Amino acid sequence: MTATSASPITRDSFAHDVLERFLRYVVIDTQSDPASSTCPSTAKQKDLGALLARELRDLGLADAHLDAHGYVYATIPATSDKSVPVICFCSHMDTSPDCSGADVKPQIVRNYAGGDIVLPADPTQVIRVTDNPALRDQIGHDIVTSDGTTLLGADNKAGLAEIMDAARFLIANPQIKHGTIKILFTPDEEIGRGVDKVDLTKLGADFAYTMDGETAGHIEDETFSADGAVIVIEGVSAHPGFAKGKMEHAIKIAAGIVERLPKHTRQGRLPASDRHHRCTRDGEAQPHRSRLHRCRSG
Ligand SMILES: [Zn+2]
Repeated sequence: MTATSASPITRDSFAHDVLERFLRYVVIDTQSDPASSTCPSTAKQKDLGALLARELRDLGLADAHLDAHGYVYATIPATSDKSVPVICFCSHMDTSPDCSGADVKPQIVRNYAGGDIVLPADPTQVIRVTDNPALRDQIGHDIVTSDGTTLLGADNKAGLAEIMDAARFLIANPQIKHGTIKILFTPDEEIGRGVDKVDLTKLGADFAYTMDGETAGHIEDETFSADGAVIVIEGVSAHPGFAKGKMEHAIKIAAGIVERLPKHTRQGRLPASDRHHRCTRDGEAQPHRSRLHRCRSG
């Protein structure tokens, strides 16, 4: 296929900038917060959303915008007259509340030669081939890791960078025939609220693909469904000298509840379409009080 005069960049000569984009996005802290009731749960997620909307407009996507809830929408116009479904490429902007997303300092391992990868700011943390056999498929490629003190945020800024680079590629190559393509970037996926405020009418897509998977060539077409609940357990405090027969330890009660959940429906043991229970205890200091979270899938 040859390029048109309006787009001198061809598939062969196109300079992908996915790595540069990725490194630009991961240093923006977008950690979400399950304790917040706002949308987005943290205002800082809009810092990245505003940057992405601006970059999309700079690519020529005039309708690109960040809405009040922290969602980014944009449209790559069709280059084909055929009537085909409108598809959407989707990714989330937030990172997990479980680990810091501030002051991310990526490590780039160029032309990976194999072997374990030590994280430089915390050498006790090593990405071992024995634990991550997929590393063997990356020999000769560049690998990006965190420095060991924060999340990297590849989940899912890798998806953002992929979609942005693909958008630039398609815009630069209008000879590639495609229908209307919608882009959607969401906040708060890590806390189970990623699609709560999506305006499906405005999005106008028939099908959407989330770029949040594992390796190249891997497609997930089914997942489990779950919802969230919080159980607050109040134990009974008592002075140790008088506690016999009186003190009730909240964590013990919590453990008893977890133990009674049907074992065959716990995380990782389900047919994909079933509900599941995933329980964690949050780190409260008081032994008389414990909280059980039955979480949404993440
Ligand atoms: Zn993700």
